[in-house]
Amino acid sequence: MAKYFGTNGIRGKFDMLTPQFALQCAQAIGIYFQRGKVLVARDHRLTGPVLHKAVLAGLQSVGCEVVDLGMATAPTAEFMIGKTKCNGLIIITASHNPPEWNALKVVDGKGVAISKERGEEIEKLMDGKIELAPWDKVKEVEEYEDAVGEHLKAILKEVDADKLKKRKLRVVLDCANGTPALIGPRLFKELGCEVILLNDKIDGHFPGRPSEPREENVQQMLKTVKEKKADLGIAWDGDGDRVIMADENGAFIVGDRVYALSVLLKLKEKKGKVVTTVATSKAVEDVAGKFAQEVIYTKVGAPYLSEEAAKGKCAIAGEEVGGVIWPEVSLAKDGFLTAAKIAEALCEKSLSNWLKEFPFYYNVKGRVKGDPKKIMDKMEKLPLPKDAEKVIKIDGIRINFKDSWVIVRPSGTEPLVRVFAESTDKEKAEKLVKEYEGKLSGN
Ligand code: MG
Repeated sequence: MAKYFGTNGIRGKFDMLTPQFALQCAQAIGIYFQRGKVLVARDHRLTGPVLHKAVLAGLQSVGCEVVDLGMATAPTAEFMIGKTKCNGLIIITASHNPPEWNALKVVDGKGVAISKERGEEIEKLMDGKIELAPWDKVKEVEEYEDAVGEHLKAILKEVDADKLKKRKLRVVLDCANGTPALIGPRLFKELGCEVILLNDKIDGHFPGRPSEPREENVQQMLKTVKEKKADLGIAWDGDGDRVIMADENGAFIVGDRVYALSVLLKLKEKKGKVVTTVATSKAVEDVAGKFAQEVIYTKVGAPYLSEEAAKGKCAIAGEEVGGVIWPEVSLAKDGFLTAAKIAEALCEKSLSNWLKEFPFYYNVKGRVKGDPKKIMDKMEKLPLPKDAEKVIKIDGIRINFKDSWVIVRPSGTEPLVRVFAESTDKEKAEKLVKEYEGKLSGN
């Protein structure tokens, strides 16, 4: 079991992820990347600058050549791995977590994020003796100036900018007071859009709204879209890999509908495998089915998506919270490319009209408290309902029915099991959650 690595890197508050600990982690990560060339970036959190210095020092002390991007979004940093031909990347970012959190997210030279399982190898190195580089082999840090420019160029290649310039979309951009402000506004201005900015002042206190772009956190964006009669509203999380939207009526578009639409747009251009986690909406399968393309399910967590996408023949990969990987550009979830691709589609018809192309699923969440292992054993023994079409046991147990599905998964952090159901019929989703909560509760 990994001691420090979670679903996506080493995450903690400042009393856990201290500068000393970050330095020690960076030394082990530097050794894991064969003391080669390592890229470093950070988000805008208040503990970022001090942890950033510790990470640079850790990497340099074991002889790594370091390329430093300074402050950058996660998608920009991950895109730059290929450009700079680095062996790996450390991004200091806690993504959608509250301001007091921070994390070291680690990505390998192919652009695949390091999972909990691979993180164990780094932890073993941390437990052993760290051998420092000889004194005369400690290298300088190279600063890379125009990563945003490079990333923008790559995004603009993927969309028809001329078509968008003619359309002159009015878009509301909510930058979460985070690093999306470094690239989001510039991108949409280059696409000829009329841009209305919210929370575009970078501030590690997150004064405008919490980092996670949940519906209750982006009310200002939804309201502004309505008031300003905008064509599209966009809200990123604090490091820009996740994106959610508002249609032209100011209605909230949840992450997995953003993903399902991305799949539709991608498969119209190019066929291939569709990768997603077991917790993602059936809308993704419905869309892939229209194009007769296979859906590959992975465990929940971005590293598993990028691992699967790296195997090749993948058209697109994405998760339920609005993170979409476009493999032609990088194996990172890229909230800017996702936003640009959907904006491009609006040249044809409105967002609400696009969303009519696949079913709307209601989702309902529940939980059963108790020992997750015991509850999962019980779930395993339950007879399969007669109308079940498919059972997926990659991460928890998911049962697909014709127009609905239910998943039972142990929580990674609490003594409970989560029950999640989705259906085109709201009552059916509620019934499924109640049914499984009932079957799994008690002894
Ligand atoms: Mg994020």
